[in-house]
Amino acid sequence: AHLDRIAAVDGAVHAFLHVEGERAIETAADLDRRRAAGEAFGPLAGVPIAIKDVLVTKGMPSTSGSRILEGWIPPYDATPVQRVRDAGLVPLGKTNMDEFAMGSSTEHSAYGPTHNPWDLERIPGGSGGGSAAAVAAFEAPIALGSDTGGSIRQPAHVTGTVGVKPTYGGVSRYGSIALASSLDQVGPVSRTVLDSALLHDIIGGYDPLDSTSIPEPWPSMAEAVRRADVSGLRIGVVKQLDSEGFQAGVRSRFHEALELLERNGAEIVEVSAPHFEYAVAAYYLIMPAEASSNLAKFDSVRFGLRVTPDGGGTVEQVMAATREAGFGPEVKRRIILGTYALSAGYYDAYYGSAQKVRTLVQRDFDAAFTTVDVLATPTAPTTAFKLGEKLDDPLAMYLNDVATIPANLAGVPGISLPVGLAPEDGLPVGIQFLAPAREDARLYNVGGALE
Ligand code: GLN
Repeated sequence: AHLDRIAAVDGAVHAFLHVEGERAIETAADLDRRRAAGEAFGPLAGVPIAIKDVLVTKGMPSTSGSRILEGWIPPYDATPVQRVRDAGLVPLGKTNMDEFAMGSSTEHSAYGPTHNPWDLERIPGGSGGGSAAAVAAFEAPIALGSDTGGSIRQPAHVTGTVGVKPTYGGVSRYGSIALASSLDQVGPVSRTVLDSALLHDIIGGYDPLDSTSIPEPWPSMAEAVRRADVSGLRIGVVKQLDSEGFQAGVRSRFHEALELLERNGAEIVEVSAPHFEYAVAAYYLIMPAEASSNLAKFDSVRFGLRVTPDGGGTVEQVMAATREAGFGPEVKRRIILGTYALSAGYYDAYYGSAQKVRTLVQRDFDAAFTTVDVLATPTAPTTAFKLGEKLDDPLAMYLNDVATIPANLAGVPGISLPVGLAPEDGLPVGIQFLAPAREDARLYNVGGALE
């Protein structure tokens, strides 16, 4: 049914870069045989899943939205992919994304943008717009995403879906094509909070293949949803992210959701996070710095594209021609920003200062969490904007991440879940909750209570 749905609507939505087709049917049939033979599987066995193209998948193309990886078939699975396969989920295919996860709209994909199923003229968010649109358009019931500065949560906000960025180290990054290694986290995308929790329970937990993976055991996220109870829960509204700069309908839905929680016994208090306003500036130095280092591996030798000028050339000429042809404009912009921020003479002024701001943002979280259990913010300042609207203005695009970036800088978990439509444009609005590191279950508790 999902393959039929993809065939019917994906020409207009363009959520997928690759569809498994018959292979998905075979995987499902094989699962049926194993079940009939008495093999036991978990609660999501047989459920189809869409996978963001940032995750490497054995035997399936994995481009990370870039021409430089066009045609590359990885020889192994990312750990989260391996875990969903082991749990019996059926991969449907790979979803569209901004090139190397750089963007908030999927317009930076080398393969053309994804369209928001609520209004095809509008962006589905980014970088994981493909996964969110696939779930919103009923092309897939559930999906995997990755979030470096909001790429799971902001697409969830603009498509009326649920998206979770786990605690840094909570889900393995092994096989996730790195954008910024100290910020990246893989996480679930779904239509309900419980579905995200069930997927989180499958993909989460220690992985010796990721040196930043947390070795301690985790509580069940699905249990947290099922036992949802917010009585006595202290929810802090971040003053700096509840301001005039946010669209009226985004704020009114946000406050209605908080009132609902209050009626169910939660206590709403205002908290201040004075350094959050510098988070975007710090992020757009740290992230390009790490990206410029991570992307150095695309050297025309090891993976994907190789362009040989006039059929020959030196190693450097081949490398330069390959990168010229293989990387899009946003990727080049960030490599230049990142190498500049890291260069001798500028390192302290840019990268060093940004790291200090990062610490101040972390301290804002620490201070807030001494008085409240979770923080609440609108997930993004506006509902889905029009395709093309911010494409020529990188700074306007970057500012869209104002509410999502602090969590990545601090490594804390965040969820975005739908709270209705903005009255002025009829487009979906999300609310974001943030919890202390390793307290992901709190997000599922409050999310479950709102659902
Ligand atoms: N929009 C942010 C950026 O462009 C977030 C990206 C992400 O989370 N992968 O960097």
